[in-house]
Amino acid sequence: MELTVLGAGPAYTNRPGATGASYLLRSADSSLLLDLGQGSFPALASRVEPSALAAIFVSHLHPDHFIDLVALRHYLRFEFSPPRRVSVHAPADLARRIDELHAEPGFSAAVLDVHDLHAGATRTGPFEVEAILVTHTRDSYAFRVTAGPGPGLVYSGDCGRWEDLAGAVRPGDVLLTEASFGPGPVPEGAFHLDGPAVGRLAAATRPSRVLLTHIQMGFDRSSTVEAVRALFAGEVEIVDPGYVTTI
Ligand SMILES: [Zn+2]
Ligand SMILES: [Zn+2]
Repeated sequence: MELTVLGAGPAYTNRPGATGASYLLRSADSSLLLDLGQGSFPALASRVEPSALAAIFVSHLHPDHFIDLVALRHYLRFEFSPPRRVSVHAPADLARRIDELHAEPGFSAAVLDVHDLHAGATRTGPFEVEAILVTHTRDSYAFRVTAGPGPGLVYSGDCGRWEDLAGAVRPGDVLLTEASFGPGPVPEGAFHLDGPAVGRLAAATRPSRVLLTHIQMGFDRSSTVEAVRALFAGEVEIVDPGYVTTI
């Protein structure tokens, strides 16, 4: 299974090119997308045919994780005749919110087959996607994705408690996790992680590698990595759009 980072940004940033969360997984001839945040549609469409995606899984209903579904919707609707369709698994209410944004009932359903996401496993093509409820919005999920036996990818989505992910990460997995508040600390009431929290998670679960993402504006990258390394002896790095690795 190959991971390509399409977007690794937070909700806003002054870092050029830091588009919203979006991660592409490919196995054999199939592609699966995790999140599609602001500005990441071109990175998707330049790498795979978006209408051929096995499915899209949306971690939660913050726009930095789903708003480029609007670009995808227009692409599917107007680039093809007849329009093509893609399956989207997302927390309840996604279609209504996108429809309301356009004041157009049925806007999403024209080309998106939206399924309500719940905790548990879904098989799509060669991929098995396990959704894990995490502390963030009331209906937020992390994902563990595998394509056959062997290690998986665990993607945190946005997550306010590292303990929520501890049951999902198996030794040898690749852990792709938010570290919104860099070296920390996380302010009271903000449901995100920082480097020390990721370090504790990695030390407890022993992934093969830790890939850090979703770092908010103004936090130092190298001290974020160091905060994780202080607690975890394995590989740790920050990923940016264009990063590719095999899992
Ligand atoms: Zn986010
Ligand atoms: Zn969020």
